[in-house]
Amino acid sequence: MADIRPYWQNYINGSFVDGGAGRIGIDDPGTGERIAEQAMADAADVDRAVQAAGQCHESGALTDMRPVERGRMVRAMGNYLIENIDEIAPVLTLEAGKPLWESRIEIEGAARYFEYYGNQAETVEGRSIPLGAGYFDFTTYEPRGVSAQIIPWNYPVEMTARSLSAALATGNACVIKTPELDPLTNRYFALAAEAAGLPKGAVNILCGHGHEAGAALSSHSDINQIVFTGSVPTGVAIATAAAQNVVPCVLELGGKSAAIVHDDADIDAFMNDVRWGIYFNAGQVCSAMSRVIAHESVHDRLVEGVVSLAGELSVGPGIERNKFGANMGAMISESQRDRAAGMVSEAQREGAIVAAGGHKMNRPGFFLEPTVLFGVTPAMTIANEEVFGPVLSVLKFSSDEEAIRIANGTPYGLVGGVFTRDIDRATRAAKQLRAGQVFVNEWYAGGVETPFGGYGKSGYGREKGREALWNYVQTKNVAIKLG
Ligand code: NAD
Repeated sequence: MADIRPYWQNYINGSFVDGGAGRIGIDDPGTGERIAEQAMADAADVDRAVQAAGQCHESGALTDMRPVERGRMVRAMGNYLIENIDEIAPVLTLEAGKPLWESRIEIEGAARYFEYYGNQAETVEGRSIPLGAGYFDFTTYEPRGVSAQIIPWNYPVEMTARSLSAALATGNACVIKTPELDPLTNRYFALAAEAAGLPKGAVNILCGHGHEAGAALSSHSDINQIVFTGSVPTGVAIATAAAQNVVPCVLELGGKSAAIVHDDADIDAFMNDVRWGIYFNAGQVCSAMSRVIAHESVHDRLVEGVVSLAGELSVGPGIERNKFGANMGAMISESQRDRAAGMVSEAQREGAIVAAGGHKMNRPGFFLEPTVLFGVTPAMTIANEEVFGPVLSVLKFSSDEEAIRIANGTPYGLVGGVFTRDIDRATRAAKQLRAGQVFVNEWYAGGVETPFGGYGKSGYGREKGREALWNYVQTKNVAIKLG
């Protein structure tokens, strides 16, 4: 086993505890070797966590606090992550396979959520509605109570931070179901909550199987709200469970997002967008630039550029890759890697051409070569289904209308990009793209401050930005008849 704690427990009502469903082995995607074991929660553990969160909520320990105090605690959690980044980053790399420098970026990103939502805590204000001389009317925003959050494996730290920070800032108690493949680093949120002085039961963190602990949490009758980030089929199951209990849910699902590259785009600068867009986190990003739709006049030059970019990436265990640069880590698991490689073969059978990569790497761990496909057409499976790996599909267009039609031609609608020096063309595309976020001339432009979420099968509701605050509160109107 690697040099990290060999056994990691769940955290319920302020205590680290074993799980009713035993333990699961956690493997390093960079070597395929076992690194630790994680306690697995069963339905009874989930129930204990929900009860603890409910009691915390009912006690008023979070809700009665002046928001500025809550905000300071939320910000302190972020500070804890930064202060302990040297300890957390290697664990994240060992469990998730990403280069060490990417782990540091993820932890810094997580801390940024706590900073942002900590600062927002005291901005959630109601309004007064005029009803004439005989009444005084005002609205308040109350926390929903128990927030259930189900986390995917691709950014286990950042995804938890995204929902947890906003939920706590608005006064909710939280139960978090961590991903089975890389649950370890979520332990640091428990330690951060303790260090920040949050009341017992405000943060509960448990790992468990999706069909067992995940299903028990999402269908629990005492939760008041759900945030789910993950795949479409699981999202449908969660929304169904939420509907049965009549509680709201936010679904952040997958994507097949496209960058449209026009004939007047800065192709050299665009290479940097490709590097981040499809090879960051080995392409396991819901808002990855998985399709490039290139104007026919720049297509060949663009393919040449991305092929050489893919070829220059040094691919190997994340723990050896501690400096920002042209390198990429492992995919999360053998099955995810094999699925991605299988989709590349299928694309070849359908007529796409592999210009770079496409193969599993002949070394221990779960590596796929950085891959570039061209000759992809909108009808191919690869142009419509999420690979969730380092696989770029390049399609060709000749008119602006065709580019938009191709970009909007999948069931998804998470993000989209347009690369051009023509502001009118960019503005038109921004209006026409069916996506929750549009990037003009820089993939991933934006930040924690900018609302994020999908159109179509990419889900509903928004995380990030001020929009996300409204997921965690409900409006109460108070109308007073004056005597
Ligand atoms: P997944 O849906 O298999 O699992 C996500 C989480 O749901 C895990 O914690 C899992 O244990 C749990 N789960 C599984 N079945 C469940 C059930 N029946 N009831 C309750 N919980 C259940 O997804 P994944 O494979 O972990 O993540 C990859 C997918 O997530 C990709 O499709 C990706 O695009 C998407 N994703 C989206 C975003 C976003 O913000 N839009 C971010 C990251 C990942």
